[in-house]
Amino acid sequence: MKGKCKICANEYTQSGMSRHLKSCLNKNYEKIIEKEQSQKSLYYHIYIKGTYRSDYWLQLQVKADAKLSDLDSFLRDIWLECCNHLSEFEINEQRFTSSGFNMSNKIKDVLREKSKFSYTYDFGSYTKLDLNIVNVFKAGEREGKINVLARNKQPEIKCSHCDNPAEFICPQCKYTAGGWYCSDCLDKHEKNDCMMNEFEFLPVVNSPRVGVCAYSG
Ligand SMILES: [Zn+2]
Ligand SMILES: [Zn+2]
Ligand SMILES: [Zn+2]
Ligand SMILES: [Zn+2]
Repeated sequence: MKGKCKICANEYTQSGMSRHLKSCLNKNYEKIIEKEQSQKSLYYHIYIKGTYRSDYWLQLQVKADAKLSDLDSFLRDIWLECCNHLSEFEINEQRFTSSGFNMSNKIKDVLREKSKFSYTYDFGSYTKLDLNIVNVFKAGEREGKINVLARNKQPEIKCSHCDNPAEFICPQCKYTAGGWYCSDCLDKHEKNDCMMNEFEFLPVVNSPRVGVCAYSG
């Protein structure tokens, strides 16, 4: 799934984006930071995608002294949070869980360039992510510990009953045929012999947690 680079505003494919950002950060970064302080800080460039829904991805610039809990909160805000479920990073077979205190580790203390690791939100209806440190670099200090460098365009998912884009999902019927609806086809749900009410449907959103648990964006 294609996405847009937030630095130069050009579109690239998912597979080409990491390489593009490396060179784009090099070429164009000074323009971005001109207005901000000239002091240099260490940053991590992190590529994140859904393990089972890899059309959904993010490329982030994360300050080296940000904590795992900062990354956890950021991922919850942009992609995941529904009912305050538990979450966990797994890095080199070590687990850092949101219920313990070990998410207070700083990024720079547990990750290095080329590190690959994973993240799980919610151990019931889980959403799993693959993370990859593309690059570690020095640059002028930016506002905010975590900034989005690029993000996928919303994948178009079709209504199960016609050619329109789907807007709603029945959390019960989504695994069987016919659980995705456009607004014109909502009345077809009655035929599914399902206890769910239309008010309980979830919206189609740009997240690997689309249609899961109570996630509504
Ligand atoms: Zn760019
Ligand atoms: Zn939930
Ligand atoms: Zn249903
Ligand atoms: Zn439809």
